[in-house]
Amino acid sequence: MAIIASNFKTNHTRQTTKEFIQTVNKHLEENSILSEVYIFPTSTSLDNFNTVSNLTVGAQNAYATNKGSFTGEIGTLQLDEFNIKTILIGHSERRHILGETQEQVAQKFNFYKELGYKIIYCIGEPLEVKEQGLEKTLEYIYEQFVGIDTNYENLILAYEPVWAIGTGVTATNDDIVNVHSAIKEKISKPLLYGGSVKVNNVKEICSLNGVDGALIGTASWIKEDFIEIIENTK
Ligand code: 13P
Repeated sequence: MAIIASNFKTNHTRQTTKEFIQTVNKHLEENSILSEVYIFPTSTSLDNFNTVSNLTVGAQNAYATNKGSFTGEIGTLQLDEFNIKTILIGHSERRHILGETQEQVAQKFNFYKELGYKIIYCIGEPLEVKEQGLEKTLEYIYEQFVGIDTNYENLILAYEPVWAIGTGVTATNDDIVNVHSAIKEKISKPLLYGGSVKVNNVKEICSLNGVDGALIGTASWIKEDFIEIIENTK
């Protein structure tokens, strides 16, 4: 049994998202799969999805606000419309492409924590840090816990090395185990791996010591592949 999450990023439309979620939901309903499954569609594709208890739809991002003047953002007023109570925070694309600082990430974390949201909190180092070795990598990752309450009960962590995201270069088993075991020593929360997880490597990755599941981008965007991933890790 694993935790399997699909991050759609900026892919799929309202229509294909609906079809995707309905198909995955039907599969979970008709098969005995105990895994916890999460799907993070784009904010325009959020809706009142009727899902089985082990399928949760979450938001890829939202601002730390109920409502207000934050052009281009959404807040809990919009999330509440669709009963969304799960959010991804700290994804590397938000940190490195959209420029979210650790301070902003922590503020968002605390805002959604106060509201009891389930938070999938992402951490991970860029290539230039990885190249400096494990010690520097862990130092960098621990900085990403500044301002974060790692005892929060509704917290799932996701280790996603930036150099492995969308590159086709999966971290080696040693890379994953080294980082996961170090984090697990400090924080006893479920810890997912993300970064070029594929249909044919997800089972092996999820069976590694300290890996509780996977957060998947590219390889999860075709519904049949995502179902195969769920099957491979159930
Ligand atoms: P890829 O699976 O495309 O590498 O993306 C991983 C990711 O960023 C999931 O959040």
